[in-house]
Amino acid sequence: MTARILDGTKIRDQIFAELRDEVRLLSSAGVRPGLAAVLVGENSASQLYVKSKIAACEELGLASALIKPPANVSTLDLLAVVEDLNRDNDVDGILVQLPLPPQVDTKRILEAVDPSKDVDGFHPVNLGRLVSGRPGLVACTPAGCMEILRRNDVKIEGANAVVLGRSDIVGKPMALLLMHANATVTICHSKTRDLPNVLRRADIIVAAIGKAGYVEADWIKPGAAVIDVGTNRVTDPEEAARLFRNFPDRLEKFHAKRSALVGDVHPAAINTAGALTPVPGGVGPMTISMLMSNTVKAARLRRASPKFSATQSTATAR
Ligand code: NAP
Repeated sequence: MTARILDGTKIRDQIFAELRDEVRLLSSAGVRPGLAAVLVGENSASQLYVKSKIAACEELGLASALIKPPANVSTLDLLAVVEDLNRDNDVDGILVQLPLPPQVDTKRILEAVDPSKDVDGFHPVNLGRLVSGRPGLVACTPAGCMEILRRNDVKIEGANAVVLGRSDIVGKPMALLLMHANATVTICHSKTRDLPNVLRRADIIVAAIGKAGYVEADWIKPGAAVIDVGTNRVTDPEEAARLFRNFPDRLEKFHAKRSALVGDVHPAAINTAGALTPVPGGVGPMTISMLMSNTVKAARLRRASPKFSATQSTATAR
């Protein structure tokens, strides 16, 4: 049996089409949602991520701004940048690209973002809302995984779901979302005993550990739905041979490029899983879609709130 491919790019296109309609509606009411991205330093992966987020804004007709503090910025100076964006009424979403340099207190920066503009869903207020099942802005990657499951009609209610990884930005919110959708959720981490057998009971697996091809095909119950969040760059030919031993096309591509992007799930899982997200082209495109969706949602909610009207009239009176 070959798994059904859960194509994130296709769902991204659907979500973008829906968002375009919503942006058009907002624009007829005089509102243009805006995202501000804060990119500290010259980390090349971060630069690439931010570039694609800004490109997505342009594609959808959202306003965007890129703020680039120097790599040696202090926590206090970065707090001032965030405060400015909090006060700016044209900014609906604030994205602080992680990781921040070591001299910066990351938690303090993330907690300084106005929760109503926290489009990454990292602020404790939004996390608290998620815990208690109240509406709020939800972290983009786990929200994207839920969209993949829902839009592919994967049955969540009553399913045994195993989340592999317990990070604040993926594993924990993912487990909460699945629990709120009535799955029975198990969270696994580096201290979990007998992981293969825990996974073998899962109807749904979400793997987010950052280890290329770690989840073996025979750890997956035949027919299970597997969401592979991992994004790992493989450059070691021996590692590539282990991962792509039955995939000559992928091995050939690896040798041509001397690297390949691989998830946390071994590619051979395609022969045991019932449904599987590819890497690349699965969860990755969904993360950006949910960031755009959160920005539009933040614009809609914030600009309809009495607090916003009050700041607007104060600004006009000045
Ligand atoms: P993270 O903060 O490093 O957390 C990794 C988690 O995996 C930890 O909870 C860790 O357990 C657990 N873990 C590590 N090795 C394990 C093992 N051998 N067995 C079981 N659990 C293990 O990572 P993250 O930020 O959540 O990201 C995870 C992966 O997702 C990375 O590859 C990242 O690049 C990718 N990612 C992709 C997207 C996307 O848009 N596609 C977005 C975000 C992240 P402990 O807590 O016990 O240490």
